[in-house]
Amino acid sequence: MVVGAGPAGLACAISAKRKDPQLEICVIDKGSDPGNHNLSGAVLEPDAARGLIDVLKENWQDDELFIDVFNRAVERDDILFFLGKKCKLNIGPLIRFAGMCKLPIGNMRHDGDYIVSISRLAKLLGREARRLGIEVLFGFPAEDIILSDDGSKAMGVKLVDQGLDKEGNKQPNYSAGEIIEADVIVLAEGCDGLVTERFIEKALLKRKTNQLYSIGVKEVIKVSEEQYERFGDNRVVHALGYPVWTPVLGPGMFGGGLMYSYGDNCIAVGMIVGLDWKEFDFNPQDALTHFKNHPFVNQFINDGKVIETGAKMIPEGGFYAIPRDSETNSIGKGNVIIIGDGAGLVNMLKIKGLHNAIHSGLIAGEVIAETIKVPVTAAQRFTEIIDHSITMKEMKQAGTFRQTIAKFGNMAGFPLSVFGGLLPLFRTEPDYRTMRKKKYKYKGNREFDKDTFTALAHTEHREDQPSHLTILDSNICSTKCKPVFREPCITFCPAGVYENIMGVLKPANPSNCLHCKTCQRKCPFDNIRWTVPEGGGGPRYTLM
Ligand code: SF4
Ligand code: SF4
Repeated sequence: MVVGAGPAGLACAISAKRKDPQLEICVIDKGSDPGNHNLSGAVLEPDAARGLIDVLKENWQDDELFIDVFNRAVERDDILFFLGKKCKLNIGPLIRFAGMCKLPIGNMRHDGDYIVSISRLAKLLGREARRLGIEVLFGFPAEDIILSDDGSKAMGVKLVDQGLDKEGNKQPNYSAGEIIEADVIVLAEGCDGLVTERFIEKALLKRKTNQLYSIGVKEVIKVSEEQYERFGDNRVVHALGYPVWTPVLGPGMFGGGLMYSYGDNCIAVGMIVGLDWKEFDFNPQDALTHFKNHPFVNQFINDGKVIETGAKMIPEGGFYAIPRDSETNSIGKGNVIIIGDGAGLVNMLKIKGLHNAIHSGLIAGEVIAETIKVPVTAAQRFTEIIDHSITMKEMKQAGTFRQTIAKFGNMAGFPLSVFGGLLPLFRTEPDYRTMRKKKYKYKGNREFDKDTFTALAHTEHREDQPSHLTILDSNICSTKCKPVFREPCITFCPAGVYENIMGVLKPANPSNCLHCKTCQRKCPFDNIRWTVPEGGGGPRYTLM
């Protein structure tokens, strides 16, 4: 069984079925339809695309959906540095030169990659999985993994109870969450998955360093034909600097903006910010607004219409934040394999992880077919292969890149990253501990319009169900957090879920939740827990 019908999980299921058509494979996902909960940049490396093509089908040249997903190869790749509200510097030649000198920072290039909508890619893979006879079930949210009494083996995955009211009382349509049993379980939930983290805890897997996260907020904007033509049809732009990093003067956050051409006169515009920001009044959406107002960006999107929005976390900790079994070093344990973003296979030097998600899925699929008679060897066999693969080679090369920046800041961290994997592992604080009594320099006067943002993510939950967001101790909010940080979850939650009602901080609008999980990782007192709501709830991305 695979938990999570994103590119990693579906690539795994398809590869296993291709290898052994007799295998009975089931993929479950909490979203209501394929691709609904998938959001990414996204640029996909050609190797990973070829890997997928190999396991998909022979006649893909005639398949409209396939062509739609893979018809945008990057022809123009700009890497800019925004010096302030108006100026910019093209640092692409510098990055190319670094690439020629084989310096790790030179990996930040995207020529020849594909610009893909990850939601559409998941749709394509979901359709192909079903075509091969794989059971792909949507609206099936998993909340836990069940281990055998001696803990040596996973027996199955427990689904969320359905049909409870807000207070947790059983309604006439109540059904207890079933346990789906399986010989092998692949956890492909993406970043900070609930079952994955519970398994890591139960199976005592360890990370050499804590995971670091970032949040990405993204809008797909329909612009005029003239603007789109001027921007270019196969172009990606990445911009460091303002509004999240202004050297010397601050702020000094890790992150940057992006612009990708999406076809049909649409440009995707996004902002990724490391969750280790210090400013208590910061909201990544404010940074996105500043980015959109920069003249370079604005010329292409001015007067455009935002047609879809979304937010999601990205695991940034890299090689040393991969959860492993301390005895066997396996990524997972026994008959449980962890793949993709759930394992943290994102390379922040390249600013991408989709290729690693797919590679790890393809490897896991082959391993399942190979080890099905002795399922408890699956995680170890998967690890033997992936540890000697190109995926782990590049993860090692990126080494402590993100930790170095977290420790020394952008100014010293970027030059130090030249030493790549040679640098020691610097200990970093978890993201929730980094907040200080410090204000964001570019905070505007107007609040970001979160209602429209949420509406365009098409998020929905059944209103009459228990809140899937829990504040562990509301005294902490009023006595510790409010006086110092002014209840920052109200500001940084991209969906405006948190409100102070009559002096009490509450997740007042859980049905707006975008499942980004930022609150769980950024609340400065580690006071929020995110669990899975009933099946089918959450955003409904179609273009992301
Ligand atoms: Fe502060 Fe966390 Fe309480 Fe929000 S939930 S007010 S961030 S302590
Ligand atoms: Fe993200 Fe938490 Fe807000 Fe939901 S409530 S959108 S998980 S920050």
